[in-house]
Amino acid sequence: MEQAVPQTFDRVLSSMCTRPHPVARAAAERFLATNPGDPETYRAVADLETEVVETLGELTGLDQPRGYVASGGTEANIQAVRAARNRASTDDPNVVAPSSVHFSFQKAAEVLGVDLRIAPVGSDRRADPEAMASLVDDDTALVVGVAGTTEYGRVDPIPELADLAAEADALCHVDAAWGGFALPFTDHEWHFGHAAVDTMTIDPHKMGQAVVPAGGLLARDAATMDALAVETPYLESTSQATLTGTRSGAGVASAAAALDELWPDGYRENYERAQANAEWVADALADRGFDVVDPVLPLVAVDLPDSLFAAVQDRDWRLARTARGELRLVCMPHVTRDTLSAFLRDLDACRDEI
Ligand SMILES: *Cc1c(COP(=O)(O)O)cnc(C)c1O
Repeated sequence: MEQAVPQTFDRVLSSMCTRPHPVARAAAERFLATNPGDPETYRAVADLETEVVETLGELTGLDQPRGYVASGGTEANIQAVRAARNRASTDDPNVVAPSSVHFSFQKAAEVLGVDLRIAPVGSDRRADPEAMASLVDDDTALVVGVAGTTEYGRVDPIPELADLAAEADALCHVDAAWGGFALPFTDHEWHFGHAAVDTMTIDPHKMGQAVVPAGGLLARDAATMDALAVETPYLESTSQATLTGTRSGAGVASAAAALDELWPDGYRENYERAQANAEWVADALADRGFDVVDPVLPLVAVDLPDSLFAAVQDRDWRLARTARGELRLVCMPHVTRDTLSAFLRDLDACRDEI
């Protein structure tokens, strides 16, 4: 049988994952046969996980960070909801989030039996604290904000959402799964140092250039991790706070290697290049007369006619849409100015044909 080959990244404009950094790839290979779910047996990778959590704490303004490398943002978000539910003193907990929240919260709500209350976002596509406040009550266990929304790259007013959570005696979670590796180089207020945030999702396998799977869950308090821990009778370690049991040492080691190599200067360069590319392609699309949602972070949404979207897709571009149907261009590290120029050339040619 011929060996299967994956896609190249040359025409991928749809993904929040990217080509891993070479050091991350090499570390993943070295640590393929390790299981950080069993830290007493696999001590080297357990040490690397501690390093990752430390560095993620630095990135997110958190002294003495707790947390772990999850399978992705989905697991980290489920775990944040689980911790809040387990810590809440109600039988009927609810989670309040903006409509821009990632669909993983629907999974969390279903799995955990909590009520997910969704508030409309404002005209700026960010969470509206007043609309969210009207959904908060005595049974609210968690208030969620997104720092870098999946569809438009918007950053919610995290300090206001943290205040709202505090007033309701609920926890505050920030989902920075995608934005977390860009936001340190911006003026946004989004992290543990800016507000009374309790937990955060931040994924090394997206902008962090680690291999998949490497998500991140961070927590301010030990009590949050305690709320997740179960006893582990057959392992040497006595408790486990992760959702998965056996998990990828490759993800952990690659995250450690990528962070060691890229934080902070490499990530700053990635962000600045990506942001400049996003602004450049947004201008180029606006010049062509399309409706463009300006990129707050390196993500551009643009309204294209369906026929044009389909024609460009037929030229082998990997494209994604927002729920409203706009084309979503995610300017990940593999998306260069040349890639975007080639995309625009194809777009122009398709438009001429149509
Ligand atoms: C990608 C993303 C997730 C989900 O992360 P996975 O690693 O795909 O599970 C959650 N939240 C946000 C904001 C995301 O962009």
